[in-house]
Amino acid sequence: MRIDTIIENARITTVDPGRPRAQRVGILGGRIVGFDEELEGVTADSRIDLGGAPVVPGFNDAHFHFSMVGLEMTQLDISPTVAPTLEVLYQRVEEFAGTRPEGAWVRAQGYDQNKLGQHPDREVLDRIAGGRPVYLQHSSHHMAVANTAAFALAGYPDLTRITAPDGGSLGFDERGRFTGLIQEQAMDLVAHVFRPLQHEELIEGLDAASQWCLRNGLTSASEPGVGGRMIGYGPADIHAFQTARDRGLLKTRLTLMPYMDAMHGLGPVGGRDGWGLDHGIRSGLGDEWLRIGPVKVLSDGSLVGRTAAMCCDYQDAPRNAGYLQQDQDTLQANIVAAHTNGWQIAAHAIGDRALDVVLDAFAAGQAEAPRANTRHRIEHVAVASDEQVARIIAGGHVPVPQGRFISVLGDGFQAALGTERLELAYRMRSFVDGGVELPGSTDAPVVTGEPLPSLHDMVNRRSERGNPVGLREALTPGQALRAYTHGSAYAVHEEHYKGMLVRGNLADLVVLSDEIAGVAPERIKNIEVRATMVDGLFQYDAEGVLAPA
Ligand SMILES: [Zn+2]
Repeated sequence: MRIDTIIENARITTVDPGRPRAQRVGILGGRIVGFDEELEGVTADSRIDLGGAPVVPGFNDAHFHFSMVGLEMTQLDISPTVAPTLEVLYQRVEEFAGTRPEGAWVRAQGYDQNKLGQHPDREVLDRIAGGRPVYLQHSSHHMAVANTAAFALAGYPDLTRITAPDGGSLGFDERGRFTGLIQEQAMDLVAHVFRPLQHEELIEGLDAASQWCLRNGLTSASEPGVGGRMIGYGPADIHAFQTARDRGLLKTRLTLMPYMDAMHGLGPVGGRDGWGLDHGIRSGLGDEWLRIGPVKVLSDGSLVGRTAAMCCDYQDAPRNAGYLQQDQDTLQANIVAAHTNGWQIAAHAIGDRALDVVLDAFAAGQAEAPRANTRHRIEHVAVASDEQVARIIAGGHVPVPQGRFISVLGDGFQAALGTERLELAYRMRSFVDGGVELPGSTDAPVVTGEPLPSLHDMVNRRSERGNPVGLREALTPGQALRAYTHGSAYAVHEEHYKGMLVRGNLADLVVLSDEIAGVAPERIKNIEVRATMVDGLFQYDAEGVLAPA
C-alpha cells in the first residue's frame, strides 16, 4: 500500500485514550490512516522525520471571533500593552487620525477602562481628531466611546437629547454631560453605520486571521456570530467566508454561528411554526471546512463592564447587578423557537442571573419539543453556583469558558465579584469531573487568541498579578489539551472526524517545541508552535525544516 505521507520519529500525543501515544502516523488524502505498527510494509510519497519533536492534534478554539481578529489587524490598536494610560491612548489616536484622509473614520480597538482609570472622553476625541468621526471599541466588545462627529454621522446631531435604547446604557459625567460612552445595545446608535461591511474588506480580514491561526497552531475555530444586526457585518456574511475559501485563503476550518436577530419566521415547517434562516438552513449544514453551527444569542453583557446580569450587586458597584440584553420573555421565546426548529443554541450568559434565564429557556424548549443530544451551549458561564453547575451537567449542556480570561481579566474579576464569589468564576474542573466534554476557547479578540497561553491558564489559574483565581477549578495539562482539541470539536458536533488523532480523522496536527505535560505547569505558555498541518499538508513551518525527505 502506498500513502501520501508518513511522519516519523515524533512524540505524538493523540488525545485518544485507546492509543494515547505514537511515534509514527500515516496520512492519505488528508486523513489519518494508521500509526506505528499499522504502517509496517506501507510506503509513502513523502516521509517527514520530526527528530523527536512533540505532536498534538490541531488546536480548536470553540469561541473565537475569527473575522474580528482579522479585521482588527487593519485598525489602530489601543489595548493596554501599547496604550497603558489615557494620555498615551489620546496621543496614539491623534497620530493615527493625522494619517487618515479628511472626514475618514478613525477606528481603534481594545481599550480597557479598568487599566486606564476611566473611559476616553467624547470631547477630548473631538479636539484631537481634526473633525473626523472617532469610534474606540472596548476590549470586551460590549462598549465603545464615540465622538461628536461620529454621532452626527450616525444620525444624532443633538447629543443633549440622546437616550439609551432598551438593553443598553449611556455614560454621563457628574454634571450630566454625555461622555460618548455607549454600552451593549446602545453601541448600535453608532455601529450601524459600519454595516454592511464591504465584502473585499471582510475577505482581507479572513485571510489575515487564517494566516495568524496557522502560526499559532489553530486548525479549527467556531465563529460566534455572523450575519446579524448586533453581531456580524451584514446579511450576506457567509458569502464572504465562502469566497475566501474558493480563493484558497481559508486554511482554518470554521463553524459559523448565525446571530439570532438574523432568524425569522418560515411559515409552517413539519407541523410547527418554522423559524430560522431562509430555506430552512440550520445547524449542521456544510462540510469539514465551513459549516453552519449553533445559533448565537446574547442574554447579558460583560463582567468587565459590570453589565452582566447577576443574582446580587457587583462588589465594587453597589446597587448595580447588571441587566439582561433583552426582556426575558422575548429571549425565551427566541430560544424555544430555535430549539423546536432543530437548531443547536449557543447562548451567551456571563452573570448567574442570566445563566438561570438561559437554563430555564433550554428547559422550556425541551418541554415543548424533547430532543436528544442537543448540546446547547452556554458561552462564558462566568459565574455559576454548585446548583447551576449540576443543572448544566444534568441537561447535557456544554459550558464554554475562556482559559485566557483567567490571567488577563482575573484581577478585574476579583474586583467585580469579591473574594468569595471569585471561587464561582469560570469553573472548569467541576464540569470535567461531572463528565462534561469541556471545550477550550479565548473569545479572541477580547483577549489574544493563542491557544497555548490559554491552555496554560486552564491549568495554572493565576491572574496577571499572580493571584489565584479559583484554584479548585484548575485542569490537568491532559484535561486542558483534551478540551482544546476534542472538547471544542464536541461542542459543535464534530468530534467524529477531528479533535483526536485516530484512524479516519482529519490530518490536522501541530508540532510543538515541548510536550505540554512534559514541562513545569508554569512554563506551558512558553511552548512554541513549530509547525501546523491542516488536511495532511504542513501549511506553516517556522524553521522551514519540514521539506519531505
Ligand atoms: Zn464572544
